This record gives sequence, C-alpha cells and structure tokens, in this order.
Amino acid sequence: LAQLYGPLNQIGFMYRTINQTLIDTEKLLELLNEPTEVEDRENATTLVVDGGEIEFENVSFSYDNRTTALNGISFKVPKGSSVALVGESGAGKSTITRLLYRFYDLPEGSGRILIDGQDIREVTQKSLRAAIGVVPQDCVLFNRSMAYNIEYGKFGASEEEIEEAAKSAQIHERIVTFPDGYQTKVGERGVRLSGGERQRVAIARCLLKNPPILLLDEATSALDSSTEKDIQKALQNLMQGRSSLSIAHRLSTIASADLILVLKDGQIVERGTHAELLAAEGVFATMWADQVTSGDSTPPPAIG
Ligand code: ATP
Repeated sequence: LAQLYGPLNQIGFMYRTINQTLIDTEKLLELLNEPTEVEDRENATTLVVDGGEIEFENVSFSYDNRTTALNGISFKVPKGSSVALVGESGAGKSTITRLLYRFYDLPEGSGRILIDGQDIREVTQKSLRAAIGVVPQDCVLFNRSMAYNIEYGKFGASEEEIEEAAKSAQIHERIVTFPDGYQTKVGERGVRLSGGERQRVAIARCLLKNPPILLLDEATSALDSSTEKDIQKALQNLMQGRSSLSIAHRLSTIASADLILVLKDGQIVERGTHAELLAAEGVFATMWADQVTSGDSTPPPAIG
C-alpha cells in the first residue's frame, strides 16, 4: 500500500474528520473517488458477470517504463475455480492482483485482462470492483461495533445475515464471548482482535458482499494451527462457487488450489497442481522443500 500514501495524505483531513482508518484497498478507492492512475473510458460499459472467468492474455507491465514487473503473463481462472500465485518477493504476484483490480490500466499492446470475455479497460471501475471481493493481508477495523464492521460488506444487511456471515467466516464463536456480543466496539479503541481474527472479519464482509470473484492476499505471518484451520475453513466457505486468485506465502495453504502459478522475475516459470509441481521437481518443489525444512509447512504428500 506504500504507493497509496501520497493520495492518502491528500485526503488526510477527510480521514481525520470521519475518524476512520483505512479498511482495505476497496475502501481507499471509494474514499478517493477520483481517478488514480485509471480513468473510465467515455463509452465504458457495465461489466456483465457470467460466472466470473478471468483471463490474462499475454500481459506485460512496467511501473516506470524501464523495469519489467510482468512479462508475457497468460493464464485463465475458469469460473468457480481457484488459482494461487506463488513466488519470491518481487516476483510479480501483487502486480497481477493490482492489475485485475485496475489500480493501473495496461497500455495498448501490452496484453489484455478479460472477465467473462470483457476487456476490463472497457468497463466502468465501479462495476468491476462491485464484482470483486478483496481479503487483504491485514484488515484494519473501524472503531465501531463488531456488527458494523461486518455489515460494511453490505450496508443494510439484517442481523441474521451478519450472524450467518460471521458463522461461515468462523468468527461468530469469538464474537459471542465479547461483553456486548455483536454490539461490542472493536478496533484501536475497543476490543483488539488478532490478525487472524481480523482476516476472518474481512472474510465475513466478503461473504455478505457476495461477489463472483475474489482476490485473496494471505497473511505472511505464521498463525497457530487452530487459527490456521479456522481461516482455511472460512476461506473454503468463501471460495465455494467463486473464481479466486490468491497470493500465497505459505505453500501448505494452497495444496487444494485448482492451479498454482509459480512466478519468477515477472514470468510464469511453472504451472500445475500441487502434486504436479512437486513431481516436476522444479522451482516449486525446491520452495516446498525449503518451507518444510524451516517448519512452515506440513511435509509433502507422497507422490505417485
Ligand atoms: P511480495 O511477495 O514482496 O509482495 P510480489 O511478488 O507481490 O512481492 P510485486 O509487488 O508484484 O511482487 O512486484 C513486482 C516488481 O514490481 C518488483 O520488481 C517490484 O519492485 C516492482 N514494483 C512493485 N510495486 C511497484 C511500484 N508501486 N512502483 C514501482 N515498482 C514497483
């Protein structure tokens, strides 16, 4: 988010006035409500989602017109399936998600990004972002009630809907231990939630928003195994029936992804399922072996 600090300063006054903290990229863009890098075309259409198939077609991108962040990226996320992005720091994972969310538009001749066959440069940002739910690495909460923090995914949601989402996101059991349950104030000046709990709040919001497409950024910090299990269950519930693109740092969490893309220096160097990539004994298998050695993953399943 460092790139957004400039614009954030500009709206600092607004921020202080409304006394709210940045929730996630979606919130920031809404607050800015002005062109960042990207402007809608005059004849922009409304994105029509039919299942939410995502396609990157020979996408190349540079932030500064000198260094290459992405080079010839092509892949498809068929509707309802899950694709995970892995690779060392700087490999281009976040750039792929930023481009899909249209923080930047691809220049002509640098490939295309399509959702259900529509070039995302040709649709309104509003309709694009309405179709995408984001679960950021860290979800900052409003200093308001727990219920409000979840309702943020869909204003006007009923108490039942909020509770339903919280249950599905595996956070309900925690909320009922708070002194005033769903009405308990959370955030900096209320009950403090752990990173894993905040991520489940983001998942609950997304469940309420009910978008066909998800962008997930897994937390980098190691979580204890019961939190990890809760988050995996919550994500499973959220990802059910949606197309998802996730940035994975802990390779153990993506064993069930339909497709894993291994990025290196802005290029896809390997692609396949977890088992296929282990069998290939390439970059992914080496990363996996390293994580197992460092204790970040469970041992690899037997192959063959
Ligand atoms: P990490 O796991 O550390 O988040 P990543 O795989 O997500 O890394 P990206 O953030 O996509 O990698 O970065 C890809 C390349 O683009 C890197 O060389 C990075 O330095 C560069 N880059 C990323 N953001 C910007 C930016 N706002 N301005 C200029 N260059 C950038």
